[in-house]
Amino acid sequence: MKQKLTLLFLTLFTLTACTSNATEKEESASSSVESEEVAESTETTEESSAESTSEAPSEEPVAYAYTVNPDIFTIEPIEDASSEVALLTFDDAPQEHSLAIAETVKDKGANAIFFVMGQFLEDPANKEIIKQIHEMGFEIGNHSYSHPVLPDLSYEEQLEELIKTNDLVEEATGERPRFFRAPHGMYDDNVLAILEEEGMVNMNWTYGYDWEEQYMDGAALADIMVNTEFLGNGANLLMHDRPWTEEAISSIIDGLRAKGYELVDPTMIESPNREVQ
Ligand SMILES: [Zn+2]
Repeated sequence: MKQKLTLLFLTLFTLTACTSNATEKEESASSSVESEEVAESTETTEESSAESTSEAPSEEPVAYAYTVNPDIFTIEPIEDASSEVALLTFDDAPQEHSLAIAETVKDKGANAIFFVMGQFLEDPANKEIIKQIHEMGFEIGNHSYSHPVLPDLSYEEQLEELIKTNDLVEEATGERPRFFRAPHGMYDDNVLAILEEEGMVNMNWTYGYDWEEQYMDGAALADIMVNTEFLGNGANLLMHDRPWTEEAISSIIDGLRAKGYELVDPTMIESPNREVQ
């Protein structure tokens, strides 16, 4: 009797051990597949968990690597991310050049933020372009609806400029913008209060030239964007949907990299956590 019990116990133990062993193997196999996917899609985030980058809705906060300095708008590492980075941004999108610019940036393996004006998204063709740029992996930011001088407007008018644009971007991409760039870089406390309410980050820039007459030329623009004295760690580069910018962007990316700057993936820049809807 005692022997039988021991045998039964041993059998049970062996079965349990096998089961748990098999489960462990399965788990480790699936998690290694997931980590490979993560490594391919993000490159820079050793810390981000498989959940935070998977497409399924998740309440896990994203492991951001960078933050926007709220006073000088440089891009700064949160922990041990490299500080020798630059961010590419394109304002007044989408007009005639955004898609071509996005294609070049993507071909170069870089990333950027496209700041859109809501009024352009009233045109279904432009909405489609922004949808496409978003699907290519770019971040879509809010650049107001009609490009006003925001401090000249009432709170209600400012609110409309911002919310209408967020709504239009969400209609195009399925996501509300995380970043805001004030037209002319001009905002006031009311604008900042709206941004806080909407869980958005205010982002001006550190330098840009493509609206100055002498740089409305691909070669001149490519030269100044890379050789300006303002290029430094965390530089936040302002460019626009313009023909000379489309012409220059490939050389600008090459030039920044030749100087040792890595181009920041905007999805790694932090914004306030939002409720998962
Ligand atoms: Zn603008």
